[in-house]
Amino acid sequence: MVPPLDPALTAVAAATKGFLPADEGAALHHAARAAPYGTWLEIGTYCGKSTVHLGAAARSVGAQLVTLDHHRGSEENQPGWHWHDPSLIDPHTGQLETLPALRHTLWDAGLDDVVSVVVGTTQQVARWWTTPLSLLFLDGNHTEAVAQHDYAAFARHLVPGGLLLIHDVFERPEDGGRPPWNVFCRARDSGAYEVVGATGSLRILHRTP
Ligand code: MG
Repeated sequence: MVPPLDPALTAVAAATKGFLPADEGAALHHAARAAPYGTWLEIGTYCGKSTVHLGAAARSVGAQLVTLDHHRGSEENQPGWHWHDPSLIDPHTGQLETLPALRHTLWDAGLDDVVSVVVGTTQQVARWWTTPLSLLFLDGNHTEAVAQHDYAAFARHLVPGGLLLIHDVFERPEDGGRPPWNVFCRARDSGAYEVVGATGSLRILHRTP
């Protein structure tokens, strides 16, 4: 049986700003514990709540986690939007800035040696990324164009047996935006994945050989 996330790290994750309910965080950690070692990639870091769940799993299986974000927030995090947090505005730039909060989260969780932080857009990083992935967590920008880009650009690096995790997948339009659902359907219908789990809006897929 896979043990749950260490209580001290569960407390760090719970205290970290973000949009991952506790049950989905636990499911994310549980799924990742079964992923192959190697290089894992998280897209959409924000303040690092899910990074704690994935990073702790990476340590336990001997993987390294890369977490990728431009750290200026998605559309729904900008001023005037529902998910805006004014305490995350950087007075120097006047822009949203989540990198310092992430660094604090990783410090508190003791995960600096397992998690490599990449700051940039997914379009920038896709131009040079070549490393095979044994786990990919898609939780970045939720516009149709970027969500589809992130899937196309990075899922092609998943090795057979690797895990594809997609967040904010809502089957019913009244429950949430369409792009993550559309990406999930694209992966499911591609024939390259088996859907092996679902908790809340988290979907877990297994890259078939
Ligand atoms: Mg999300």
